[in-house]
Parts: sequence; structure tokens; C-alpha cells
Amino acid sequence: MAAELKRADRLAAVGELSARMAHEIRNPLAAISGSVQLVALRPWVDEKDERLFSIILRETDRLDGLLRDFLFYAKPNQPTKVPLNLHRVISDLCALLATDPRLEGVEIVHEIPADLVVQFDKDQCTQVFWNLLVNAAEAITGGGSISIEGAAVLGHGGRGEVRISIRDNGSGMSPEDVKRVFEPFFTTKKGGTGLGLATVYRIVETNGGRMSINSSLGQGTTVVLHLPA
Ligand code: ADP
Ligand code: MG
Repeated sequence: MAAELKRADRLAAVGELSARMAHEIRNPLAAISGSVQLVALRPWVDEKDERLFSIILRETDRLDGLLRDFLFYAKPNQPTKVPLNLHRVISDLCALLATDPRLEGVEIVHEIPADLVVQFDKDQCTQVFWNLLVNAAEAITGGGSISIEGAAVLGHGGRGEVRISIRDNGSGMSPEDVKRVFEPFFTTKKGGTGLGLATVYRIVETNGGRMSINSSLGQGTTVVLHLPA
């Protein structure tokens, strides 16, 4: 028991330390990217230099994204649970995603009752659905659709819950991949961080919900969330 506690303490300390480290790396990274952008404006910069500068910028951007996701994963904020109208959360998000190039050719259909309310942290709720919708969109090549359904259900012990499913008709996953999707850093994408679903899982858990994923290769993927009502 004591040994277990010590281990938990040590893990928390490692999480804290790596979060600090990630934070410390982001500042100089911002300075590098800002300076390169300025130098790139100099009149003697030729095409070759421009290409090199754009590589530096693309890679610093990627690192920054990775550190941001990692920071959130290593040190998630304590949730502030409030009643959230799910219909509104999803509608707002769909409006936001409408201009995102990743959603080109992807139709999102949502059927969420207008009065469906969950108890969840507002920013974290948006992050959960953002990550799930982006994943669904990235699994779709050359047109497809994502459908979101929500309903009030009775959970364990008769507690009120909201069940939300997000279904896409994208690439789907092999059974081996499905087993690993919640592992931090598991990714099959070029330039992916593999922190999206690990973060979603963590957020859902700390807000008192649960989630599962069903997928079949070539058919598509369904993510099911049970969130506290
Ligand atoms: P990332 O998107 O950076 O790769 P995620 O944690 O969001 O990291 O996802 C991990 C992996 O799970 C993805 O690389 C992909 O292989 C798989 N995945 C997640 N969502 C879907 C989906 N809707 N359809 C197919 N594969 C998915
Ligand atoms: Mg992702």
C-alpha cells in the first residue's frame, strides 16, 4: 500500500516535471519561429532560403502543437462542471469546423434533442468533441459523413446519463489498432501526435463519464460517450 502510494506520488511528480519542461520549451520555440518569420522578410532572401525557412516554420509549428497537446495530457485542469446544453455545444462546434480544410467533403449530421443537458467542464467538452470530430474527418478520404446522436438514458444504479454516439464512414481500424487508440503517442498519421484520444479519455473520466470505440476496417468507426446528466 505504502509502496503503491509512493509510486503514485512519483508518477505525479514526473507528470508535473514534464509539464514544466514542455512549458519551458514552448517559449524559446516561439522566439525561434518569430525570428525566422522576420528574417524571411529580408530582401536578399532567395527561393532556396525561403524553402528552408518554411521547413523551420512548419516544424516549429508541429513541435508547438505536440507540446501543447502533451501539456494538456500531462496536466489536465481540474474540471469545473456546469450544466451544458449539448445541442448548442455541437452546433457551435459544427459552425466553427465548417471552414476547416480537414472537413472538406465531409457532411456532419447531428440529431441532438434541444433540451439535452450534460454536467461537464465547458472548454473540456468542446475539446472532446473537437478531437473526435477531427479524427472522424481525418479518417474520411474523398467525401463521407459523420453522424452525431444523443439521448438521455439511465446509467448504472439508475443515474441519469447522456449517451452520445459519433459515427463516421471513414477508413475504420483493425482490431489491433482499436486496442491501442487510447495509448498516449499511438498514431498512424504522418505528423499525428497520438495524444487526441488519450486526452479525450482522460477528460471524460475526470468529468465522471466513460467512453468506448467500435470500429471495423473499411466500414467506419463509432465512438460512444456516456456523460453525467
Ligand atoms: P492522432 O489523431 O494525432 O493520430 P489520436 O489519439 O487522436 O491521435 O488518434 C490515434 C489513432 O487512432 C489515429 O492515428 C488513428 O489511427 C486512430 N483513429 C482515431 N479516430 C479514428 C477514426 N474515427 N477512424 C479511424 N481511425 C481513427
Ligand atoms: Mg487526433
